Amino acid sequence: MLEIKGLTKKFGNKTVINNLSMTVKDDEIMAIVGPSGAGKTTLLRCITGLEKVNSGTFYWDGKRFDPANPGKEDTIIGVVFQDYQLFPNLTVMGNITLAPTMVKKESKDQVTQRATELLKRLGLQDKETLYPYQLSGGQKQRVAIVRALAMNPKILCYDEPTSALDPALRDEVAQIILDLKKQKMTQIVVTHDMEFAQTVADEIKRVEQIQ
Ligand code: ATP
Repeated sequence: MLEIKGLTKKFGNKTVINNLSMTVKDDEIMAIVGPSGAGKTTLLRCITGLEKVNSGTFYWDGKRFDPANPGKEDTIIGVVFQDYQLFPNLTVMGNITLAPTMVKKESKDQVTQRATELLKRLGLQDKETLYPYQLSGGQKQRVAIVRALAMNPKILCYDEPTSALDPALRDEVAQIILDLKKQKMTQIVVTHDMEFAQTVADEIKRVEQIQ
């Protein structure tokens, strides 16, 4: 279970998130929805450690952690960015194995084996030697999901996962998220797409200004 207590985030004098507390239960999909500018992406960036918070504490299974200073062994948060942020000069396999080998110091063989299984699970088994420019948008997104999963995170977060996708691919990513839930992955989805949120989420957090 993820617990966030008293999270406040300001940019200069502007308070974007004001004393937010929330809980995401195990295996749950939480959608964070709200109008443009409400602070959804900022909240996700705080949870994933990309923004430093002004105040607030994070707990995974009752144990405090700092998203901005993740430990080397246990990855708590994984993230799939809106624009995927794949490394253009690395193959699909290179993109997936980089962080587990460099950051977690896992053996290349072990990571490659895990990556191969994950690629198969997401229907990308024949894509491992391709470069990002050789992939469709939907395939890039699935590679980004595999790359995040390869770190064995406890929670997977997505920023606007449907924004670049046509309706068929939107259904596909919904299915991937629901399949991962069956495999007991806790997930947080930031989206402005209410219909998508209703399709995938167990719980919807609506934000105007986040507090
Ligand atoms: P959208 O749906 O349009 O992506 P959002 O709900 O995700 O919007 P955020 O991107 O989190 O909203 O932005 C929330 C507020 O924080 C906005 O007013 C934005 O201008 C401000 N903001 C975000 N990042 C920064 C930053 N790095 N510096 C200053 N202000 C910022």
